[in-house]
Amino acid sequence: MKSNNESLSFAEFSEFCMELEKISSTLELASRISEYLRKIKNDKDLYNLSLFILGRIYPPWDEREVGVGIGLIYEALRISTGLNKAQIENFVKETGDLGIASEMALSRKLQTSLFVQELTLQYVREVFDSMSALKGEKSQKKKIKMLVDLYSSASPIEARYLTRLLLGEMRLGVGEGILRDAIAKAWGLDAELIERAYMITNDFGTVAITAKNEGLEGLKKLKIKPHIPVRMMLAQVIESVESAISEMGKAAVEWKFDGTRVQIHYSDGKITIFSRRLENVTRALPDVVNMVKENVEEGVILDGEAIAVKDGRPLPFQNILRRFRRKHDVAKAAERIPIIVQLFDVLYCKNDYFNGETIDLPLKERRKILERVVKENEGLKVAKQILTSDPKEVKRIFDESIEAGHEGVMIKNPESPYIPGKRGKNWLKIKEVMETLDLVVIGGEWGEGKRSHLLSSFVLACVDENGELIPIGKVATGFTDEDLEELTELFKPEIEFEEGKKVTITPKYVFEVAYQEIQKSPKYKSGFALRFPRFVRLREDKDVSEADTLERVSKLYESQFKA
Ligand code: AMP
Repeated sequence: MKSNNESLSFAEFSEFCMELEKISSTLELASRISEYLRKIKNDKDLYNLSLFILGRIYPPWDEREVGVGIGLIYEALRISTGLNKAQIENFVKETGDLGIASEMALSRKLQTSLFVQELTLQYVREVFDSMSALKGEKSQKKKIKMLVDLYSSASPIEARYLTRLLLGEMRLGVGEGILRDAIAKAWGLDAELIERAYMITNDFGTVAITAKNEGLEGLKKLKIKPHIPVRMMLAQVIESVESAISEMGKAAVEWKFDGTRVQIHYSDGKITIFSRRLENVTRALPDVVNMVKENVEEGVILDGEAIAVKDGRPLPFQNILRRFRRKHDVAKAAERIPIIVQLFDVLYCKNDYFNGETIDLPLKERRKILERVVKENEGLKVAKQILTSDPKEVKRIFDESIEAGHEGVMIKNPESPYIPGKRGKNWLKIKEVMETLDLVVIGGEWGEGKRSHLLSSFVLACVDENGELIPIGKVATGFTDEDLEELTELFKPEIEFEEGKKVTITPKYVFEVAYQEIQKSPKYKSGFALRFPRFVRLREDKDVSEADTLERVSKLYESQFKA
């Protein structure tokens, strides 16, 4: 392996990816990756490899974006190979994968390249960084030129992984868990320690470099830092209120608000707000920024729910996501869709009361800090919390929450720490609605008649234990015309290819879907189908890895037969 001062060649990286693609056992994948990681001497390569292998160019919270969609890839492939678009589209149709299609295109290229540069991980990274820095009118043209240079220098197999990397989908079956185990194994460290380091940095590059150079001590020293998001603690569905309460003794009960999660960092005169997917949404929320500036003490990281409201009642969840997505006229949107924030936790506090990370304190102590650092006003609240050991009281709070237009209640253990990224027994949720499924959109179909310019039905998939997408059905009801307009706009750039009315869509978005029943069916690969599926909403706060699993579908199927 070429390493040390010299960067790892992209060809070698591609060979390695090809090898991984053939392995299906997760244990074997982790073990093979760990061997490979151990051989890398150069920190920059280790950084890039740790991200690239997951199909990432930047950590999710980094605002930089290469901004290369399917359209630009087609264009660059066309120019660098001399083939026409229809030929390349045919390769996609044959294989269902733009990565393999790129490889096929390059192996049939009609012209020899004038510009040839040996591709290394660092060189590719530099090109990506230059692309992300481009702004303004000519940026598309410049990006195409840079892409053409990359493809012209690439071998067919390198093109396969370049394309997949640009699309954010490596198809190696390597998820975060496998990479975590691989890093742990490479340097003989505890996987839980790696997990924790990742949950507070959200950057596998940094975690891998620290593991290699500083080991256990270095990882322990990785702490929460303002303006770098922490993975959010999540809730489990409650099985029985009575047993949960008797286990906790006294439970802290809060409304489960119908909004979307926000993590607010206020430090060094600066405010940064992250969504549940850890995207930086600060720019879309100037009203929240102002409220925080005026009412919160500096030096904190707060956790809460942002809720769009009208006349004191929550508006449907889509409104708030519309606010998050907004790039222009954000001030107008803020007027039209006012937001209130209900804060329920604090993860970091550096001021007169405390000196840094608070996540290891019990909830009851964190709550005290939260109450001290936030001055409540109309738009900024500390979520009301009631300590009780009476299930009847929980029911009363639940009814009150539903009455106010919210989702239900959260029951939290007042003695528990905040465990980033964890869905466990310390936070339990009770919701009113029948369990819905969160499924990945992988395809769709153009509508008929006056809906012919709109995508109006969508193919859905769940995920299996290897992270593969397994089709489970289609959804074509529950959409308003406005939803379809918005969804069509959203999915258009993600269309990989079309055949008649049918389209294949890059799996990036998750729909929440209600249904009447889950049935066994040979029609879809999952072996299940949904009866009367109905679109509930776009879960823009969830990414593909958070979609429901085949295992959950199967459990829900079984539970239908229970009395
Ligand atoms: P779910 O999305 O159904 O898994 O439920 C967990 C989500 O509920 C969290 O990610 C929050 O966005 C939301 N939530 C609403 N109210 C609260 C609360 N009081 N405490 C914690 N999470 C809450």
